[in-house]
Amino acid sequence: MDLSLSPETNKLLGELREWSMSELRPFAREADRTHSIPEGAVKALETCPMQTSPFGGRVEYPRRNEPSFVASEADGTYVLSYAVAEEMVYGDVLALVITKGNGIGGKVVSLMGNDEQKERWAGGLDRGEFHYSGFALTEPHCGSDAAALRTTAVRDGDNYVINGHKQFCTGGSISDFVVVFATVDPSQGSRGIRGFVVPKGTPGFNVIRANESKLGSRVFSTSELSFENAVIPAENMLGWPDPDAAGFVKAMETLNSTRGSVGAMATGLAQAAVDQAASYLVKNRTSFSVGRAARFADELERMNSALMTSRYLARRVAWRIDQGLPHTSQASMAKAYGPQVAERVAARVLQLMGPDGYSEEYLVEKWHRDLKIQDIWEGTGNIQRIVISRALGTTGFLPA
Ligand SMILES: Cc1cc2nc3c(=O)[nH]c(=O)nc-3n(C[C@H](O)[C@H](O)[C@H](O)COP(=O)(O)OP(=O)(O)OC[C@H]3O[C@@H](n4cnc5c(N)ncnc54)[C@H](O)[C@@H]3O)c2cc1C
Repeated sequence: MDLSLSPETNKLLGELREWSMSELRPFAREADRTHSIPEGAVKALETCPMQTSPFGGRVEYPRRNEPSFVASEADGTYVLSYAVAEEMVYGDVLALVITKGNGIGGKVVSLMGNDEQKERWAGGLDRGEFHYSGFALTEPHCGSDAAALRTTAVRDGDNYVINGHKQFCTGGSISDFVVVFATVDPSQGSRGIRGFVVPKGTPGFNVIRANESKLGSRVFSTSELSFENAVIPAENMLGWPDPDAAGFVKAMETLNSTRGSVGAMATGLAQAAVDQAASYLVKNRTSFSVGRAARFADELERMNSALMTSRYLARRVAWRIDQGLPHTSQASMAKAYGPQVAERVAARVLQLMGPDGYSEEYLVEKWHRDLKIQDIWEGTGNIQRIVISRALGTTGFLPA
């Protein structure tokens, strides 16, 4: 397994880090306070070396058409996409919401849709016709146990009629379309579940709450949605006309390719916290006792190594996806380990900086709050550990 990146790719990553620190980070506090995307951050995107979203998907090299472009082995791969995601989030989680073509909905279409659907919906995001897309699986009574969902899709002539209630849909209120998971036959359990593209503006597609008030990552709109006799063309069922092309198993496989990127994003932000603490130590060293300075430096070294492991786990998944190799348990390892380490790192950094870490003077307290979600969404750490246990053959020891 060769995870080395070409000089061209490393140059891009360096530029991205510089951009995310100097152009994006200045808007992080405002985004947190207002729970919305600051105008300045949208403007800052104009100077970003990467215009399209790397989150959860493949990215094309931005300088591909320039005469000076030297093809990189990582070009257009998941390895590149995860590395880019890490560097963009290094500035702040704000990076997650401002890039074009964002949201996991497009990713789902590109993995589960037929050619026409890929061209129309995922392609629309690439071309900039759509800005954001949502993925609505979780319901008020179920998230981890997604197979228990109750939203229904009933065939009516050339249409499907969707009825149900979805919760915690990232970007749901601002999405141009949302991929809604619903059952076409509740008696079939998970085998009856399909994904449907529901465009914004569909009558009966209601935003009950645009943005949940929450601990961190407040700039994401986390929406509660309802579908009341929402009629969509039958060809909006992913994989149409093959009823088995886009079932529940396929949806779970889709998440396998995005979970590693959650590990990468968490690593990027936690690395920013470690680097901020390192600068803080260097600046204040003379006023620290010898004991405090030594303990501080020692802990930062350990955290840096743990983040290196998280980075490796995430890139390993990306590499396996690029090679067409199975990657379910590897994705779960990256998702279970990376966010948990990142959360602990942010908490330790805050502690090491003491009252300054707790203060809004620094972004560490915010990143500590922002990071918590990475261990919850796209399958909690606990659920990932169950998947890993299955690969180890030890699930029998876990409570049902
Ligand atoms: C900010 C935010 C954004 C989100 N975005 C989206 C989105 O875009 N689309 C979407 O569909 N969903 C989204 N979600 C929902 C999220 O994916 C779910 O909340 C998550 O998967 C947990 O599912 P749950 O809500 O059913 O909680 P539960 O499953 O009830 O989990 C509660 C706790 O119990 C633990 N637990 C549950 N079952 C087990 C078990 N068998 N063994 C051990 N521990 C267990 C969990 O690990 C967790 O700690 C989002 C959530 C949040 C907070």
